[in-house]
Amino acid sequence: MSQPLTDRHSRIHRSLRISIVDKCDLRCTYCMPEDQHFLKREELMTREEIGTIARLFVERYGVNKIRLTGGEPLLRPDVVDIVRDMIELPVSLGLTTNAMNLHKHLDGLYEAGLRKLNVSLDTFDAERFRTIARRDGYWTVWNNVRRAHDKGMRIKLNMVVMRGVNDDEILRFVQLTEHNDIHVRFIEFMPFAGNHWGRERVYTYAEMLGHIGSVYSFEKLTDDPHSTAKAYRVPGWSGTFAVISTVTEPFCGNCDRLRITAEGKMRNCLFAREETDLLSALRRGEDIAPLIEANVLAKHAMLGGLPQFKPEKQEEVLHDLSARPMVSIGG
Ligand code: SAM
Ligand code: SF4
Repeated sequence: MSQPLTDRHSRIHRSLRISIVDKCDLRCTYCMPEDQHFLKREELMTREEIGTIARLFVERYGVNKIRLTGGEPLLRPDVVDIVRDMIELPVSLGLTTNAMNLHKHLDGLYEAGLRKLNVSLDTFDAERFRTIARRDGYWTVWNNVRRAHDKGMRIKLNMVVMRGVNDDEILRFVQLTEHNDIHVRFIEFMPFAGNHWGRERVYTYAEMLGHIGSVYSFEKLTDDPHSTAKAYRVPGWSGTFAVISTVTEPFCGNCDRLRITAEGKMRNCLFAREETDLLSALRRGEDIAPLIEANVLAKHAMLGGLPQFKPEKQEEVLHDLSARPMVSIGG
């Protein structure tokens, strides 16, 4: 008999992120350690296993939002088939990508029914792109963003803002929203294994608003109750901008996200240090519902049990981090 979920847990965990592959064709400094090793193909969930796990979350636990991620999800040859499977579920479906291979899959993804894309883009400078991503690709990514936008995809652009690296481009990203219905999201640089995080490298939510406010006046928009982003608009402009303030103003109390890694491990928080192996149990033919419920109930109140990301706690945070780097969590 599985343990019943409390009202609170069954109510709040409605959003599932599924990483469908752990490898990536970029090597962003803030995400992937230099010595990253990737899983073997047989260790990844198959398309069918992803479908089985996703269906259980939707039908039994009321998940109504699924986001496919990676690594880089477009590196998976059956990504369009997986999208087609997910579209059949009663969920709002999105996909997070670096857009390096989007031109190859855009028509297929669109025809399968996908309309929501989150694209990572940290700079408008091709040289700087190469420094951050440790590979060339700026023009490929930017052309693909335009293509997807023109095709009618809803685009959110994710920019990880790092002090002294790309904080001088914030206004250019805001400017993009004047004539384009694009949603820019500035993300505070978060600590993960092997990403050289330091609290002094975080360009904060308050600094971002101060900087933007010194040039533009903007209005606050109403956020979805479970949104991780605080959204704003320059009045009259087509797009919006938002800040994800995990470091300086975490929003753990409203978080409704659960995550599955590419090898089928469930995580109840981005910063979780414990994981539950759903895939091995599924492959042994076991009922995975009790494992899911135990994992949800073990969720820490804040930041996966890490201390708050204050400057004086930096050493403790770095010491206590999960061993899993962001590239294999999925965002
Ligand atoms: N490869 C895809 C991409 O880049 O969009 C999906 C996976 S990536 C891990 C998902 C998101 O995590 C991206 O938007 C990326 O910018 C964000 N991310 C990675 N490392 C981060 C960090 N240290 N702090 C904040 N966001 C981070
Ligand atoms: Fe790859 Fe995305 Fe991580 Fe960059 S942010 S290394 S594109 S997974």
